[in-house]
Amino acid sequence: MSHEKPGRHNYRTDPLTALTEAADRIGFQLAETTGTLTLMLRACAAGLVLVAIAGSLLLTRERNRSYSSCDSNLRQIDAAKQQWALDRGKGTNDIPAWNDLIGTYVKEPPKCPQGGTYRINRVYDRPTCSYPGHELSK
Ligand SMILES: [Zn+2]
Repeated sequence: MSHEKPGRHNYRTDPLTALTEAADRIGFQLAETTGTLTLMLRACAAGLVLVAIAGSLLLTRERNRSYSSCDSNLRQIDAAKQQWALDRGKGTNDIPAWNDLIGTYVKEPPKCPQGGTYRINRVYDRPTCSYPGHELSK
């Protein structure tokens, strides 16, 4: 007993207190382990969120790329159609056939990168793509 420091640590001689203290230590270790697990779970969740964000960014970029390619096709079809109307003295309600445009006003039939189908439409209207969201921007 003489080797014990004076003060609150003297209660270690009391078996009940010693037991309680041991239980506290185990509890602390458990809490620490739980804390580590929580941290790992949080890290995993953060990783998943980052992967999801990166994935959606890549998807958006790919979608934008295919959209702009389709947009430029539509622009090309529109320009070809307008030129065709000018050259042939056509009105706004006339609709050129692909054969009227291909070879003369466009090199080859434009292909939508998403597999949409193009409609030339009458001269007054813009050409359209059947793929959802693909339309001629201003
Ligand atoms: Zn398209």
